[in-house]
Amino acid sequence: MGTCTSHDVEIDFRTNLKKLPLDIPISEKILNRRRGGVPMLSDLSSFIKESTEDFEKTSQPKEYIEQKIQELEHKVDLVSKIDCWDMNIFEISDLSEDHPICCVGMYLLKSHGLIEEFGLNTTCLSMFLYEVQRNYWSINLYHNATHAADVAQSMNILLTRCPFLSENVTKVDYFACILAALCHDLNHPGVNQKFLRNTDHIIVSTYQASPLENFHAARAHTLLKSSGLIKHLDDDVQKEIYTIINHLILATDMEQHRTYMEKFNVCVATGLNMKDKKTKILTLCIAIKCADISNGCRPWIVCKSWAENIMGEFFIQGDIEKEMELPISPLCNREQEKIPQSQVGFINYVLLPLFECWQNAVNCEVIGEAIAYLKSNRETWNTL
Ligand SMILES: [Zn+2]
Repeated sequence: MGTCTSHDVEIDFRTNLKKLPLDIPISEKILNRRRGGVPMLSDLSSFIKESTEDFEKTSQPKEYIEQKIQELEHKVDLVSKIDCWDMNIFEISDLSEDHPICCVGMYLLKSHGLIEEFGLNTTCLSMFLYEVQRNYWSINLYHNATHAADVAQSMNILLTRCPFLSENVTKVDYFACILAALCHDLNHPGVNQKFLRNTDHIIVSTYQASPLENFHAARAHTLLKSSGLIKHLDDDVQKEIYTIINHLILATDMEQHRTYMEKFNVCVATGLNMKDKKTKILTLCIAIKCADISNGCRPWIVCKSWAENIMGEFFIQGDIEKEMELPISPLCNREQEKIPQSQVGFINYVLLPLFECWQNAVNCEVIGEAIAYLKSNRETWNTL
C-alpha cells in the first residue's frame, strides 16, 4: 500500500525530522503573489504570528486557548449538519473566526465519546488542534485549514453513515482517521510536487516518493508527538494510530491514484474482508481519497467556491512558473484553462469512477447522495 511501509516511514521520521523545513523557501514568492497590492510580509513566521494574535494575547495561553475553543464551539452549531454533504464549511470557517479545525475537530472527537474512551486531556487536545490549525497556511486559496476541516467532516460522513464502514471501524480507527484528515495537508506550500521537483526543493530531496504527503505525515507525527495527546495510551495502540495516520496521509497523493484504484478493485472483486488488516487500511485509504476530493459532492454554491479556489491556487503556481521560466504545469495556465471544462473532466474521469467503485463495494445511501450531487453539478458546469 502506498509507497512506504509504516516501518520505512518511522525510519524516515527518525532520520529526517531535524531537516524538515517549516518556512519553505518559496513562501515569500507565493506570499507576494497572493497579497497583490497589499503590503507584503517577508516571512511565514511573522504571518503566522499575525494571524493568531488574538489567541496569543493572554499570559496563560493554554487555558485561554481551551476556553476560546469552547466559546467558538458553542457559537458554531454543528449538531444538525455534521453528517451531511450539504454542510457549508465556509460558513463554519466564518463562524469559528477562521478556526474551523479547532471547532470541527473538537466537535467530532467529543461527540463520538473519544475523550472519555481514550482518557484524552482536553487542554492537550485543544493545544494540538490549535497547533494543527496554525500550521495550515491561510494564504493558500485551497490547501488551507478550511480544506482540512472539510476533509475531516467528509470522512466523518463516510465513517458514520456508511453501514459497511460504521460496522467495521473501531474507535481507534475512527480517531486515527479524523486525525489523519485534519493533518493530511499540514504546511502545504500551495504548489504541487511537479513544481517542487522542478525547483529541486528540499522536500523532494528529503523524500523521493510522494514527497509532499511524506512531509505532511512527518509534520502530523511531530505535532501529535509533541502535544503529548496520546502518550498515555498503550504502545501498541499508539503505534496503530500512527500507522493509520501515515497510510491515510500517503494515500492522498493523486499521483498514486491509479495504483490505489487498481489495488482496491482487486479487493472489491474478491469481496472486501475487513477482518484482514491490510484490506481494512486500504479501504480507509480509499475513504480519505474520496473525502479529500469530495468538493463536487456538495451543493452547487459550495462546489463552485472550491473549484474557484483550487483553480486560483493552480493559476498562481502557473504565474510563478512562467516568471521562473519553468514549464507551466497542467491546469495551471490561466490563459488556456477553462474552469467548467476542467471540472467536468475531473468529475468524469476521476470523481465518478472513484465514487461508483466505492458504491459497488459498500452500497449505501450516503454515497448515492454524493453521486447525485456529482451528476447535478456536472450538469451545471456544462451550462457555463
Ligand atoms: Zn487535501
